[in-house]
Amino acid sequence: MQIGQKDDFKKYFKIGISKQYSVGIIMVKTQKNIFMKSFFFNFLTIFLVVNHSFSYSQTTASTLLKNVNLIDGTGSASQNGIDILIQGDSIVKIQKGITAIGATQIDLSGKTLIPSLISAHTHVGTLKGNTSNAENYTRENILRHLKKYQDYGINNILVMGTDRQLIFKNSLRDSTVAGLLLGARLFSAGYGFNTPDDAPASWMNLLLRPKTAEEVPAMIEKLALLKPTVVKMWVDDHGGKAQKMKPEIYTAIINEAHKKGIRVAAHLFYANDASALIDAGLDIIAHSIRDKEVDAALLKKMKDKNVIYIPTLSLDEYAYIYGDKPYWIQDGFFKSSLEPGVYEMITSKEYQDKIKNSPDYEKNKTASKIGMINLKKIHNAGITVASGTDSGAYPIRAQGFSEHLEMELMVEAGLTPLQAITVSTKNAALAIGINNKYGLVQIGKKADFIVLKNSPEKDIKNTRTIESVWKDGKMVSKGVVKK
Ligand SMILES: [Zn+2]
Repeated sequence: MQIGQKDDFKKYFKIGISKQYSVGIIMVKTQKNIFMKSFFFNFLTIFLVVNHSFSYSQTTASTLLKNVNLIDGTGSASQNGIDILIQGDSIVKIQKGITAIGATQIDLSGKTLIPSLISAHTHVGTLKGNTSNAENYTRENILRHLKKYQDYGINNILVMGTDRQLIFKNSLRDSTVAGLLLGARLFSAGYGFNTPDDAPASWMNLLLRPKTAEEVPAMIEKLALLKPTVVKMWVDDHGGKAQKMKPEIYTAIINEAHKKGIRVAAHLFYANDASALIDAGLDIIAHSIRDKEVDAALLKKMKDKNVIYIPTLSLDEYAYIYGDKPYWIQDGFFKSSLEPGVYEMITSKEYQDKIKNSPDYEKNKTASKIGMINLKKIHNAGITVASGTDSGAYPIRAQGFSEHLEMELMVEAGLTPLQAITVSTKNAALAIGINNKYGLVQIGKKADFIVLKNSPEKDIKNTRTIESVWKDGKMVSKGVVKK
């Protein structure tokens, strides 16, 4: 049986218990020879030893990272010469000059350590080669994508509404979240909500499409059984090409989701929709507002209602940039993130001319610019901005590279590199609701981080100089093998 199949949890814990129990028995025998104690004492000893061996097993592996330049994700400036002590899967000490007898010591002089990245808007499993469809959605393909994210330093992702039965039926999602499988942890919005009359791609055929508000409660009831991280909905006319979801429908979705304690994220484009959706109780904006600059009233509303804003700037750039031959197109760090055949497609003259001559080219470029201006305004207003990219939805939105490009674009929009890192770590953890464990390099948090050759504090592009990726206290990748 493959790990991650139906009985993963049972199996995992059974192995854990039997190992600990046998250790307990051996120790009890020794104790018995020495003390010749009563049955009661032996029973008590078994109990104590088994319990003790559980806590021992959790803290047994200690790693001491020496002398690193630390960017902890809070937005504070880097601190040099820092030691970090990891026990089991957690960070237990961060200071200068730690000594820890028995710990595996690693010298990280000259290297920079940042929290592993988190992407709060992605799509997984449907992409393969130049295609994106439902048939591609297999266990093998999903795990391949999760591994790719991890090689790019991304340990947690939220899939926004395009998942399929497979990941729920056999605990695949839960196994990734529990850290039982190699690759990023997959958090899921389950099946997103869209309009009934949209002509969807095959990978969107499981979307929930209520015709009336009355149909919504039963749909949310069913969806809630999957324990989605958020409920995702599309509120967009796709440039006038589709019908937009009606306010009574999205209001019902928000209300019903909130009754179940689930937050709601919306795909949107227009400032007016953002405003109306926030009035209806929306929690997360999952794309940039791109039709016009946000005004003071909308900023105030977003701030007052604690809305989280996920700009997906890279998606907007991908909508036109291949016509402009971006500087990174020859970069191995980018090329390695592409599915086979995509590089040939996007570098062909035919494709580049098609993008450049498209009637949407100027429109998309303008939308992208407005998105950048709005990000800066929204960030300045103190609204929580979280990183997401929409990577993996289509072949041109490369998984892994997009998350690094996103930070470069944030800096281009006016954020500092440290702010861009906080958006991609601490804030994205907040968006997924995993900030108790991930998003910061801090005492008590899980040891999830990346080690970089060069510091991104002055040049954000240095997040691409990954030397190792750590997940739950273990090194799981040496970064991307560049093409
Ligand atoms: Zn998306």
